[in-house]
Amino acid sequence: MYPFSEKILLTKQQSLIACRSYFERVEEIAEKNTLKVLNTLRKHKIAEHHFHTTSGYAYSDAGREKLELVWADICGAEKALVRTQFVSGTHALASVLFGILRPGDELLSITGTPYDTMQTVIGYHEESAGSLKEFGISYNEVPMKNDKVDLEAVKKAIHSNTKMVLIQRSRGYSLRAPLTIDDIEKICTFVKSIKHDCICFVDNCYGEFVDISEPTAVGADIMAGSLIKNPGGGIAPTGGYVAGKAELVDLVSYRLTAPGIGSELGASLVDNRLLFQGLFLAPHVVAQAIKGAIFAAEFFTKLGYYTLPETSAIRSDIIQAIQLNNKEKMIAFCQGLQRFSPVDAHVSPEPWDMPGYSDQVIMAAGTFVQGASIELSADGPMRAPYIVYLQGGLTFEHSIIGIMGAAQAIEDIHNS
Ligand SMILES: *Cc1c(COP(=O)(O)O)cnc(C)c1O
Repeated sequence: MYPFSEKILLTKQQSLIACRSYFERVEEIAEKNTLKVLNTLRKHKIAEHHFHTTSGYAYSDAGREKLELVWADICGAEKALVRTQFVSGTHALASVLFGILRPGDELLSITGTPYDTMQTVIGYHEESAGSLKEFGISYNEVPMKNDKVDLEAVKKAIHSNTKMVLIQRSRGYSLRAPLTIDDIEKICTFVKSIKHDCICFVDNCYGEFVDISEPTAVGADIMAGSLIKNPGGGIAPTGGYVAGKAELVDLVSYRLTAPGIGSELGASLVDNRLLFQGLFLAPHVVAQAIKGAIFAAEFFTKLGYYTLPETSAIRSDIIQAIQLNNKEKMIAFCQGLQRFSPVDAHVSPEPWDMPGYSDQVIMAAGTFVQGASIELSADGPMRAPYIVYLQGGLTFEHSIIGIMGAAQAIEDIHNS
């Protein structure tokens, strides 16, 4: 029945035993978050008639309005936009920047170089048409120091025109640890103590439901993320969200639609059930993904690889980095994972020149929703030390099998 070697099967058994207590912690968070979601759904009296699609301008779209009230409550925010009209996380994040910043303002990233797609939005490199830079919004960044925000350097870097600080919670394609909710709370308090009206904006991608509070509940003014990552629960077919202070979310809504229209329009083009049900499932699905990540950390450590975070680490995003040190192994890992995907399992990923990246990138993603990284997926730039970033997993069982598949493909390099 199992196409896996004795060694891999034995390592799996040992890893599952070693991970047990860490899994318990994750399951406890999932239960607390599920209770939070249920309490919020009850409070807003969510019923079947909120699930219908609407058309045209969609004034008074009850489903959309309820969804955003629920979302705001869950985030500890005053207001939220939860829209399939956001085409991706980058679009939601960019809407925050363009909605709030004005010519002459400075955006300061205090978690070092931002995620690749955000660099294009900012105008980080030359020639990115339509960037913040073209609109006269300047950018500066403070590198992180020992995986922490360098508060002293932040203090020096905040000037009178620093309208907003950008705080990226997750690691992205780097080996740093993600920021915890505690970290984010302290950072926001610190920034406000330097400049009380400086807006703290959190890129919350991959962080939703990993802990029992979200950044906007602990001092962040606004945050944004993708619905095909954690908070869509694997069910949302597309979309993004923004949550935070009402006046800021309103500014973002004028950029999403138009000034004067804001959040009042926008048809529920897909069955809202998918967004409500995805939200309901999200705490559980995120826990499944994190259990898969913890298992992968232990499993690949036992096989002799460096993994980050390590098995016992407290998680603040769903990403697991595994350093493979070898190009062939990185390709084999992705191909092995892909073989045990529910979709496109018959195709074999290869490194390719992806727009916007300086090195070739390889991606394993046999997902139901295209590119959904809450589903089991792995990717990384093809450069030494050949680190593969594993994330997602709608069911823990699938993660176990996919991870064994990746290890088997690596083992098979030597046997062929
Ligand atoms: C995924 C992600 C984004 C946005 O990516 P999209 O693919 O556009 O949804 C931004 N920042 C971080 C840290 C991310 O992980």
